[in-house]
Parts: sequence; structure tokens; C-alpha cells
Amino acid sequence: MKINLINKKILVTGGAGFIGSNLCEQLLLKGNKVVCLDNFATGKKENLESFEENKNFTLIKGDIRNLEDCLKATKNVDYVLHQAALGSVPRSIKDPITSNDVNVSGFLNMLVASKENNIKRFVYAASSSTYGDSKALPKIEDKIGKPLSPYAITKYVNELYADIFSKTYGLETIGLRYFNVFGRRQDPNGAYAAVIPKFVSQLMNLESPTINGDGNYSRDFTYIDNVIQANFLSILADKKAVNTVYNVAYGDRNTLNDLMGYLKKYLSEYNAEINDVEITYGPNRQGDIPHSHASVEKAKKLLNYNPQFSLQKGLKEAVNWYWKNL
Ligand code: NAD
Repeated sequence: MKINLINKKILVTGGAGFIGSNLCEQLLLKGNKVVCLDNFATGKKENLESFEENKNFTLIKGDIRNLEDCLKATKNVDYVLHQAALGSVPRSIKDPITSNDVNVSGFLNMLVASKENNIKRFVYAASSSTYGDSKALPKIEDKIGKPLSPYAITKYVNELYADIFSKTYGLETIGLRYFNVFGRRQDPNGAYAAVIPKFVSQLMNLESPTINGDGNYSRDFTYIDNVIQANFLSILADKKAVNTVYNVAYGDRNTLNDLMGYLKKYLSEYNAEINDVEITYGPNRQGDIPHSHASVEKAKKLLNYNPQFSLQKGLKEAVNWYWKNL
């Protein structure tokens, strides 16, 4: 899909992280100027390696909890792609105060700075966790349940603040509710690693991965290139598509057992022994919802979103990347 996004100046907050660094890289490849604001809380210098020397790239080491840093980063910028946050439900259960400081106060600072510096549009990473305990499937944007974790609350509060900023100050905003994103550069290490990179790394080391629960929980796993597409389209979308939120997913669901099956299959093409690694099962995790499956009809209709990567197609790409880079 060809997206004509060129000659803009775009701030990517959290640009040293998994999603942010992929956004920076693709924006630069298209011929845009990119500013990255990151405090390297979870982001890594090595994520910037492939484009750090690009003359159109500027790195600002700073913290979204500091309004001055946000004002500096938004100066003379056309658009903001706000990705900086502390992810992970378990992290927010362990330390809700820091998650709130970064994800809520930091978000508010970024909205204020964007308003002060007359940003044309503020596109931000929202989350499928906002659906909370709603059992309805597929998930449709205006039908949410009660949040199941401090993290989910922070992401919902982001949506409320964005809505108020658009109504009160006329700041154009678009929230993208990402569903379980995966792909190149997602960190496999640490206590709060996401399942796909963690399982890939364990299988590659012939270690036995543990699935939380019986493996029948399902997710709408979303390849990074679908997420990049949604962000780019949000910058370009016409005014009737703004001041709202969209699901960003592939629009399908697979169980954890399905996922493990694909991973073993694709990874054993590199090392046949991986097929024999045993899978273990542990207790369900607190704050996890059983099933998640997005309707992507709204994004298709208003943003022209057309996700190109199914779980299987994305996994083949991701596995290949991890095999070369881990
Ligand atoms: P990530 O941890 O790889 O990236 C987050 C980035 O934000 C990191 O580079 C980190 O250093 C930076 N950051 C954290 N606190 C900061 C602060 N105080 N000031 C400046 N920078 C700060 O995570 P990711 O998976 O790339 O997630 C990006 C965004 O997408 C987050 O807002 C996350 O909540 C959201 N999201 C991600 C997923 C997913 O599946 N990965 C799903 C839903 C929503």
C-alpha cells in the first residue's frame, strides 16, 4: 500500500522503543524530518542504530514528565506520534504510581506542549486494555468495559484527556488502540517482556516456555507494519476522521496454543531441535482478559486502513529478524 507521507516534521515520543523506533525509521525512509524524545526507561540506543546518523534525525534525551522537555521537543514540529509510556499490566500492578506519572501526567504534558506549539495533529498510542472486562467480541470502539489494571486506567484516561483537548482547545487528536503488537526490535528480555519475543528467545535457546493458563486465551496479534500504516494514515486522514479513537489490529484472533504452534513451526526451519522443546503451563495472570479480537471496520472506513500482515505472515518476518539479530 503506497502512502504519500513526505516532507513533514514529526515528533515521535518513545522513539527509542519498539514501536517508536520502527516509526522513526519508516518516516525517515519516506523523506520526513524526525525528532525523537525518549528517556531510555525501556528504550535502547541500539534501536536507533540504523538511522541515528541520518541528517533528518534529531534525538532529544528527555522525560515526558518534564513539561520543559515536551515544549522543547514540540517546537516547530508539524505532527506528534506519541508512543512514550510505561507498558505492561504487571508493571503497573507492581508500581501504579510510576505508571500513572508517566502515562497520565506525561501524556497531559505532551498535550499541553502540543497545544502551546500549535501542533497540527496529535496521534497517540492508546490500548486494547481499555476494553477491560467487556466480554463482547469483536471489540467495537464505543463499547468498553471496566478497566482491569492500573495500566488500563492510564490508557483510558489518555482518551478522556485527548477528547477534552480537542473540544476545549481545538487540538486535533487521534487515538490508536493497539492490540498486542509484535515484530522486529521488540525486547525479549526483562520481567515485563511481551509473549512473542519472550517465547521466540526461549525456543531459540531450547528452553521450555511457559504459557499462562491453559493456552486457550486468544489475542488479536498485530504485526508492527500494520501499526506503522495506521499511524501514517492518521497523519494524513481528513478532518472528518479526527478527535476519536480506532482499533489497530489485524482483525482476527488466535489462541496462545496456536501461536506457540506457529512459532515452533517457523523456528524449526532454522533449527529442527526446536520442534522438540516442551511447553509448560502456569497459572493465569492477574488482569488478563480471556479473549481479545478487534473489529477494524472503523479504521478501514475512516482512515482507509488495510492491514497487510496476518499473524502467520508477520511471525515469519519477526522470526527471521530474531534469528539474525538475537
Ligand atoms: P517500549 O517500552 O518499547 O517503548 C516505550 C518507549 O517510551 C521507550 O523507548 C521508553 O524509554 C520511552 N519512555 C518511557 N517513559 C518515558 C518518559 N517518562 N519520557 C520519555 N520517554 C519515555 O513499548 P512499545 O511496545 O513500543 O509501546 C509504545 C506505546 O504503545 C506505549 O504507549 C504502549 O503503552 C502502547 N501500546 C503498546 C502495545 C504493544 O503490544 N506493544 C499495545 C498497546 C499499546
